[in-house]
Amino acid sequence: MAIYLLVIILIAIIFFLRKNIPAYVPILMYHRIAEVPNDRNSLPPEKFAWQLNYLHEHGFHTITPAMLYAFYTQGTALPHKPILLTFDDGYTDNYTVALPLLKKYNMTSVVFPISEWVGKKNHWENFGKQETTTMDWQVLESWLQAGQTIASHTQNHPFLHVCKQPQLQEELCGSKKSLESKLKINTDFLCYPYGKFNQAVVHAAKKAGYKAAFAIFENVNLRKIDLFALPRIPIPDHQSKWEFRLKVSCLFIVFIALRKWEREFKQYRKKYFQHK
Ligand SMILES: [Zn+2]
Repeated sequence: MAIYLLVIILIAIIFFLRKNIPAYVPILMYHRIAEVPNDRNSLPPEKFAWQLNYLHEHGFHTITPAMLYAFYTQGTALPHKPILLTFDDGYTDNYTVALPLLKKYNMTSVVFPISEWVGKKNHWENFGKQETTTMDWQVLESWLQAGQTIASHTQNHPFLHVCKQPQLQEELCGSKKSLESKLKINTDFLCYPYGKFNQAVVHAAKKAGYKAAFAIFENVNLRKIDLFALPRIPIPDHQSKWEFRLKVSCLFIVFIALRKWEREFKQYRKKYFQHK
């Protein structure tokens, strides 16, 4: 019995690998690049430097959201070992600390500023975060001139899945318009605050004119590419080197898929067998 189960699991894994690995592009999620004690969203600069050096040494090529979109929708070729680097919230240290390192390796990335919080203190994070500032409009322009990308992260960083319709539209359309008019760019891509979304959010994002949206790995279906649920991998402050190596390799999607299957199997077992 056990052997049959093992064979079935192996076939499922091979099937999953054949279908998903060629299309898998790691998308890393960063916030602050700074030394902040007890803040999992602040990666110390020396760790970030090590990670970029690792990507450089191992032949990774950073791509833009537009390149990823063209790959998924038109099959446009990507460079060898593509990877997408993303920064949430638009902190000033992305410009002062991360950008010089990105330039050193000729890498590109995307930042997601919160349009009503551009050039302000980070008081939307009113839960005990260390005070810092976000890039202002002028700095965001310099960010663009340095070959980096900017995309939307709403106006005020709400949990979109609990927003009522008018607020949802306002957050999604308002931030898009604001970035487009102030920076003279197209804002085709969205990043969901906290990675949270539901069907109403996806519908509103499409209606607002976005072409794709970024979420977080844990909250998305990995069986197919969903342009409005692009899976990102969080890089926390304590990120170890071995785990970073795993996260940027194609094995990570298998690792996550197995973890999700295990969870689904346990839920199924609980639902159907526990009370019998
Ligand atoms: Zn955010």
